[in-house]
Amino acid sequence: MNISIIGTGYVGLVSGTCFSKFNHNVICVDIDNEKIKKINKGISPIYEEGLDDLIKKYKKNIKASTDYKSSINNTDITFICVGTPSNEDGSIDLKYVKESAKGIGEILKTKNNYHVVVVKSTVLPGTTRDIILPILEKYSGKTAGVDFGVAMNPEFLKEGVAVYDFLNPDRIVIGSNDKKTSDILRNLYMDFTCPIIETSLSAAEMIKYASNCFLATKISFINEIGNMCKKLGIDTYDVADGMGLDKRIGRAFLDSGIGWGGSCFPKDLDALLSWYREKNEDARIIQSTIDVNDYQPLKLIDLLKKHLPDLKGKTIGVLGLAFKPETDDIRESRAIQVIDKLQKEGAYVKAYDPKAMDNFKKLFPNVNYCDKAEDVLDSDAILIATKWDEFRGLDYNGKIVIDGRKLDESRTARIYEGVCW
Ligand code: NAD
Repeated sequence: MNISIIGTGYVGLVSGTCFSKFNHNVICVDIDNEKIKKINKGISPIYEEGLDDLIKKYKKNIKASTDYKSSINNTDITFICVGTPSNEDGSIDLKYVKESAKGIGEILKTKNNYHVVVVKSTVLPGTTRDIILPILEKYSGKTAGVDFGVAMNPEFLKEGVAVYDFLNPDRIVIGSNDKKTSDILRNLYMDFTCPIIETSLSAAEMIKYASNCFLATKISFINEIGNMCKKLGIDTYDVADGMGLDKRIGRAFLDSGIGWGGSCFPKDLDALLSWYREKNEDARIIQSTIDVNDYQPLKLIDLLKKHLPDLKGKTIGVLGLAFKPETDDIRESRAIQVIDKLQKEGAYVKAYDPKAMDNFKKLFPNVNYCDKAEDVLDSDAILIATKWDEFRGLDYNGKIVIDGRKLDESRTARIYEGVCW
């Protein structure tokens, strides 16, 4: 098939590249010319395990462009994969989605063959049906379900293992109003062996939000149990292992630590909460999940102050800045709260991350960024904020380590404290 992808960030570029692996011809469209130039040179503009290799290998199937017109006219399916960030008040900002829907609609006006528009961006339940579809109809002058198709196909990939996740999903969800469109998408995904679920447009949207809220809640729940375990001298990971063997619970997302961040959980929980609040209702579980998560990184500082009560003038080393390993993404990284607090308390901060330092420098220019992880060890105390594999091999002997991610190799420190163990 011929596929255009609008928005070539983590989701768009990974989806497009993976579709090219199945011999589809893909055009990646973005407003960011730098990204387009890189993709056309066979270079990934983002770091994702295996992505560069795939782009190089399937180069003949992947093109990148800033031009909506030729991209949509030369393809049969268009995926909308633009960002859906938060407004100041936590509500969802749909400006990129609306702009791209308008752009697609304008081209569909003069396109003759049946074209399917698929929303892959995470949007609140009701958005595709009540906002995106009407924009497409308005600017094309055509009728959805008759002249063109509309579908909602949420993406569940995780950054860091995005290529693997895209190629090995647990399920594929196809929300649509008409059979012709869902059949086209089923056909597109025919090489995938996982269950494919067909739902309404809004149910597909809600499946994505409910999944993210549930996973974030699972982490906040184990962190709350972990804070109790810490007071009792219990290793929360033993508790998680014991709980996780129960098939009704499962072990995944029960790793306690300093909480969740990233580009999705924080904004998705905020968006659902904010939407429900507008309906004069409270989402109490989601609110508590966020509250626990906001408090959790500061536990690291509390534990540090047990050993260094006055942080003023002390040098504190932070290992890890990305919101999780194997990504350069620092959006809502727990390291942000930790470093902000350290600096407010008058500490000098040294930091190292294998991938995320360039991004972090934009937020915190006043941190001493080290060339190597070892250089961070020369500090009054070390905080572990992201569990990168390369931190396992460091020599922690004689150091004070406060571990937010259960890096067991750092237990050789002179003083070792785990946040929930
Ligand atoms: P991103 O910020 O990495 O990429 C978005 C891209 O869209 C950018 O390259 C931007 O330049 C481009 N863009 C913005 N407006 C445009 C326009 N009008 N036309 C063309 N391109 C435009 O975002 P992302 O992390 O890939 O997320 C995209 C969507 O997927 C979001 O709704 C997100 O919630 C959802 N999602 C993300 C993940 C993830 O792990 N990142 C996982 C599942 C779902």
